[in-house]
Amino acid sequence: MLDEFLRLPRVAYFSMEIAIRNEIPTYAGGLGVLAGDTLRSAADLGLPLVGVTLVSRAGYFHQEIDAAGTQVERPATWDPARWARQLDAKIAVRVEDRPVWVGAWLYVIGNSYGGKVPVLLLDTDLPENRPDDREITHHLYGGDEAYRLKQEMVLGFGGVRILRALDFEISSYHMNEGHSALLGVELLRRYSYAADDLRPGEMPYDLPRVRDMCRFTTHTPVDAGHDRFPYDLVKRLFASSVYGYDDREPPKGGQPGGEHGPIDFTVLTALGGTQELNMTRLALSASDFVNGVAKRHAEVSSRMYPGYQVRAITNGVHPYTWSTQSFRALYDRHVPGWCHEPELLLRVYGIPDEAITDAHAKAKQALIERVRVLTGVTLQEKAATLGFARRMTAYKRPEMLFTDVNRLKAIARERPLQIVLAGKAHPHDGEGKKLIASLHRHARELADVIRVVFLPDYDLELALLMVAGVDIWLNTPLPPFEASGTSGMKAAFNGVPSLSVMDGWWVEGCIEGVTGWAVEDAASLYEKLEHVVLPLYYGYSGNARGWVRVMKGVIGINAAYFNSHRMMRRYATEAYLR
Ligand SMILES: *Cc1c(COP(=O)(O)O)cnc(C)c1O
Repeated sequence: MLDEFLRLPRVAYFSMEIAIRNEIPTYAGGLGVLAGDTLRSAADLGLPLVGVTLVSRAGYFHQEIDAAGTQVERPATWDPARWARQLDAKIAVRVEDRPVWVGAWLYVIGNSYGGKVPVLLLDTDLPENRPDDREITHHLYGGDEAYRLKQEMVLGFGGVRILRALDFEISSYHMNEGHSALLGVELLRRYSYAADDLRPGEMPYDLPRVRDMCRFTTHTPVDAGHDRFPYDLVKRLFASSVYGYDDREPPKGGQPGGEHGPIDFTVLTALGGTQELNMTRLALSASDFVNGVAKRHAEVSSRMYPGYQVRAITNGVHPYTWSTQSFRALYDRHVPGWCHEPELLLRVYGIPDEAITDAHAKAKQALIERVRVLTGVTLQEKAATLGFARRMTAYKRPEMLFTDVNRLKAIARERPLQIVLAGKAHPHDGEGKKLIASLHRHARELADVIRVVFLPDYDLELALLMVAGVDIWLNTPLPPFEASGTSGMKAAFNGVPSLSVMDGWWVEGCIEGVTGWAVEDAASLYEKLEHVVLPLYYGYSGNARGWVRVMKGVIGINAAYFNSHRMMRRYATEAYLR
């Protein structure tokens, strides 16, 4: 089966998390979902990519909420043998001077018209490894700093080696976020000069050649999103794989680098920073194409990392994956070819209004049914429904809507409102967990006037149910920290407009009153809800068809553009084929 993937040179797409499918819990949030959509679009468009990630056998986690509204984390262990095929290739990565063996599983992302993209899931859970090394690829974003650096060594060093062991021909390497930056170091090792060819002080590496092969996408302006490792830790884990610090001598024999030789410590500090190993800086230094995930984010990133040119390729979502059943059927009937060419969705204006509202009503019923099963609460079909779901973390500001519960009640007394919430907090993010608890408190405070439900265990399936089944998709991040955001784009494929703070993709996607609405703070959020959004929803604005008009604007303008096919066509022409 592998043979067919070896014929074409491929772009190796490295990502710490990839949302391959709902049954494989190897993703934590937007980054992984984007990686999955990237590979799904590549399969649809016939772009030769190969995904490289960790197998993360223990998954991220399943979320339960206890009676007090506190998040409880349960293991999300999955069995790779059920979904993927074990390959017989095996390579070793040196960690603290012992070999850690790395194997791989093959999962093939395919579609109904024959497109296929292989994904390699790296796995250290092999009998030849020490018990603790067998767990290096178990926990996504778990463990301490040392655990994380080991994972990044397996991903970066191990990924490049296993691609070669499997005979893949790689035309370029795409680092999806800085977690995979060590692949650049591995390539430097591969493309090194013999010492005889060097002049004094010259680096023994062909950096221009490595740069020519590497592309880097940065995904967040949030500080915690950029890995940094103290050099003491780097020296301990790399051990004799680096030379040139303390009293260590360069290796004898005149061959400083070489494919399996140690790496010169000064190259790490030159590319990754002198104080600590900054993976974002390393990735920036090793790549000749760097981009942010929306125009605003590229500007912010350029300011964060002066001296590097950061371009913008705005994210998108996968058309088929993020359209619910009723909208797939609607588009199939009225916009044939939309799955390959989502630009065609601009033809939404030719679809009868009732067909759009019927498709949405079906999606809303499906959500209402799920809410009933999960929470016992029955939502009302006719009531305007606000949705908010994302990783629960401070900059996403999930509490903004609840700033003034009395004001919110007053608005809802006039025009009914109900609210559906979801989202996981990282197990180490105490702030995020507090947010979940306080959302539950607000739900109780509002209960006499507004039904507010929090759905546990946000995942791909729940995300689709929510973005399609609510009427309005709310997003209130603290600018400029939302690099892109993608759930609003998913909502767009289902005709659901966003009510959002101007940040990330919304700066490009918002046409006020046409594709949704912009808000600044709690006051403007209440203002707009009360005087613009709810009147339009209930047809009190003197414009009975106004709401369907917005639904069509969302589909014909936003879904037609903010999709991962457009995004991948841009990566192909601007990043991969340069
Ligand atoms: C799309 C998605 C996200 C990211 O949504 P944002 O709007 O970017 O915050 C996170 N988790 C899941 C399960 C998703 O489907």
